[in-house]
Amino acid sequence: MNFEKITVCLDMHGCPNKCKHCWVGITPNGRLSIDDLKFVAKNFRPFTHDLEVTDRYREEDYPDNYKELWEITSALSDNKTPHFENISYWRAVRDSAYIPWLYSLGVRAAQLTIFGDEETTDYFVGRKDAFNEILQTIEILLANKIAPRIQVFIYKNNILQLPYILQLVEFLDLENKCAGFDKEFSFFLHQGSCSGENEQFYDDWITEEDIEKIPPKLRDFTIKHFNVQNIVDVLGETEQSLYARLIHNSSHMDSIITDNPVFFIDKNFNVYPNYETPSPMWCLGNLKTEGAEKALNAYVNNSSVAQLTMATTPINEMVKKHGNPDSLRLFGEWDYKNHLLLKHLRTK
Ligand code: SF4
Repeated sequence: MNFEKITVCLDMHGCPNKCKHCWVGITPNGRLSIDDLKFVAKNFRPFTHDLEVTDRYREEDYPDNYKELWEITSALSDNKTPHFENISYWRAVRDSAYIPWLYSLGVRAAQLTIFGDEETTDYFVGRKDAFNEILQTIEILLANKIAPRIQVFIYKNNILQLPYILQLVEFLDLENKCAGFDKEFSFFLHQGSCSGENEQFYDDWITEEDIEKIPPKLRDFTIKHFNVQNIVDVLGETEQSLYARLIHNSSHMDSIITDNPVFFIDKNFNVYPNYETPSPMWCLGNLKTEGAEKALNAYVNNSSVAQLTMATTPINEMVKKHGNPDSLRLFGEWDYKNHLLLKHLRTK
């Protein structure tokens, strides 16, 4: 068995936050060692000539030895992807060397997620002071010529915070300050996928009537960010119309198998495809007790409960059992199918 590329992401230290929208799910943090990371790399090494190793699938750069981990993962990888534009504001306000280090790696834009004002953002992040840390991080980023990019998750219970967020963007003068070092400020909003922790907001999911509550400037930023024609291209269509279309679709969900898979490995060395929330339904095996070959075989043979269900259960069967033909909630088609799959898996 040989893959064009394999990326393995070991959840070595977890995350300081407990975001209520987190698609990878809130699980206890681990404290894995560099030897654990090397163990993972060694196990997957025989199955590709292009292995990439990362020390996380949750918060970037959370452990104190984040620089060392960057060096080690680079050495263990054949081709290292440049540092993502996701960063740790937890670290940014505690470690003055962090943002300059990101700049030295070539990071020129950094994404930060807010949900509204201080109270709202702290509530959604699940940690007091999160909002203030984000504001401090924006200042540090600007001082280091890195453009902040603001992401907002919207639900019925925070959409009326959008005018406040617009005021904040204008008060902080983010467009002009980014232009001052030849970068473009960007912003986007969306509802995220209805999976992981975010599934808890199904009852608060936005509907068509909420679109007019989005301030035009934030709508236009979002359209530009996603390079689409209309905000509906981002927010999707009603569950009602998806139901009406997909109830006639007797095909199966698309296979997730590729020649360059990404695998999540949790702190107990369970292996999952990077597709939906790591959970027993997606588990491909345990690296310590069963090895990488078993997990890779499970992956290519659709052996996990979730992959098997995708390959064998017609879409219209899941729609009929779990869809709501009267719901005006907005979903993209891909997200909606995965939402139904999750509900279906729970019945197994
Ligand atoms: S969304 Fe990101 S920052 Fe929030 S809990 Fe999940 S991994 Fe951590």
